[in-house]
This record gives sequence, C-alpha cells and structure tokens, in this order.
Amino acid sequence: MIVPVGEDAAAGDPHQELHDRLVEAGLLFSTPVQGLYGRSETYQGVVRAIDAMVHRWALELAATTIHVPPVIARSTFDATNYLQSFPDLMGSVHIFRGTDREHAELVRRVEAGGDWQALLEPGEVVLSSAACHALYPMIGGRLPAGGRVFEVSGLCFRHEPSTDPARMQSFGMHEVVFVGDPDGAQRHRDRGLEVALGLLGDLGLEAEPVPANDPFFGRLGTALATSQLEEELKLEAVTPIFAGRDRTAIVSGNCHRDHFAQPFGIESDTGEPAHSACVAFGVDRITIALFARHGLEPASWPDEVTAALFP
Ligand SMILES: [Zn+2]
Repeated sequence: MIVPVGEDAAAGDPHQELHDRLVEAGLLFSTPVQGLYGRSETYQGVVRAIDAMVHRWALELAATTIHVPPVIARSTFDATNYLQSFPDLMGSVHIFRGTDREHAELVRRVEAGGDWQALLEPGEVVLSSAACHALYPMIGGRLPAGGRVFEVSGLCFRHEPSTDPARMQSFGMHEVVFVGDPDGAQRHRDRGLEVALGLLGDLGLEAEPVPANDPFFGRLGTALATSQLEEELKLEAVTPIFAGRDRTAIVSGNCHRDHFAQPFGIESDTGEPAHSACVAFGVDRITIALFARHGLEPASWPDEVTAALFP
C-alpha cells in the first residue's frame, strides 16, 4: 500500500503503520484500549492453523492436551511468585459482593462517572499471564520415570499497552511443557526450540535463537535478568517484523528448574523436586509476523507457506 507522505498520521511509526494496515484490511478490529483487538475469521483461521501445527508436534511427543481458561486461581498465581517479579504486567479480577444498599451506591457512582471500582473486592481468580502457569497445580504428586509432556494453550494477559500489533494485552499462547528430571527438562527446551525454528522456517519466517531475559520489575529485577541471561535459562526465537527495529520474539524456550514444580509438590520418579521447561509459541505474534511478511491476503501467500500451514 502506498500512502502519500504527509497525509498519513502513521508515517514514521512502523508499529502504527502495520496496525493501521491490519485494521483497514479488516483483519483486526480496534477497541478503545491499545493492544486489545477483535479478530476476523481470516485472521483466526491462521491462528487455528498455527495451533494445529503445534498440536501435531505435541502429538509426536505423546503430550496430554489441556485447553486452559484465560484466568487462573489466585492461589496458583500467588504460588508462582509472579507478583514479586512482574507486578506491572499482571491483571486481577475484581467482583461485587455487596448488599442491595451497596448496589444502589454502585449504580449511583457509575451514573455519576465516579469511582465505582472502589466498591469491588478481589475475586478468586487473576488473569493468566502464561498458559503453562495453569498446568502445575493440575499435576501435583510423583511423575512416572521419563517425566510427562503436556500441551497447554489459552488466552493470556499482560498489561503492556502499545501501538505495536505484535504486543497485544490479550493474546494466544500455545506451549509444550515437560515436567520430570533436570536433564529431560533441558533437552526438551533445547530440542523444542530447534523444532520451533523448523516450523517457523516452513512458514517463511527467518528466526534465530537468542539468549533472553524476562522483563523483571525494578532494581532487584536487574540481578534476576542478569543471572537468567548468564545461565541461558531463556532463549527466544526472534524475527524481523519491522524494518530497522528490534526483532520480535515469537517463540520462547524456558528452563524453570524447580520454580513451578516445587510449590505444587511435583516430584520426579525418584522423589526429587521435578524440573519443568516449556516451549511457548506466541500464536498471535506469529500470525502478525505472517501478515507482515507475506501480505494481508493469505490466498496470495507463497505455496510452500500455505502448504505448511494448511496441510
Ligand atoms: Zn510456559
């Protein structure tokens, strides 16, 4: 699409420019909030095809498939220590449990445009920030020799308002998770990332693995990020979406050690605290990368990409 310079509010901002193209093409529907979108059937068809690709790999690993809800138990959230590391990204669900009288006050405040949220209280769930967090309380206890593999997918939330369509607040994540002994976890992460790079290559997305760190909060977080980098606990497959900008992570491979297994009492077959590792596909990011790379019409994508995506 060629837009005359000077007539386009998005000129010079590649994030806004891609956002506008996706919206104008009817693939995404914008909302009053940055990073929150409705998806068209064409867009969601690509998401489903990527989900199916990951599912085929998970089947090869004899994974147990679990579709998880977009919220997790507050008790699970607390046990993952998410708040210690990422307070700025989380979202909490609040509910109303008041009396008739408090309801009248609630309505009065809503109609007056006032602070009605102050009359709510925290519910028993928070928004899920990673699909695999829901898994660990489901598998407490001793694992069989060789560990287990799970496929976990669902919608996740992170509070990161942005004009970048690849940085959504509500987005799909599809993970293949190993839980078992430490060597098995490391092998799953390393092998899984190779598989992911192969799948992305089949989709015409050049991606390469780079050591990465999670966006830990605050001054204490700097030390956590440094040790995560040094120990290569996190690797990301990054691909160029925006010319001249940082590449975007579309898959991550994470070694958690016993961070998630320990609080939920998950043990290896020998009774040691289990280790876990996940390979997480950002299905919305991969979808956005495909539209950015191959154009806004899936029907005109290269044959080999279409063949890999819709076998
Ligand atoms: Zn994960």
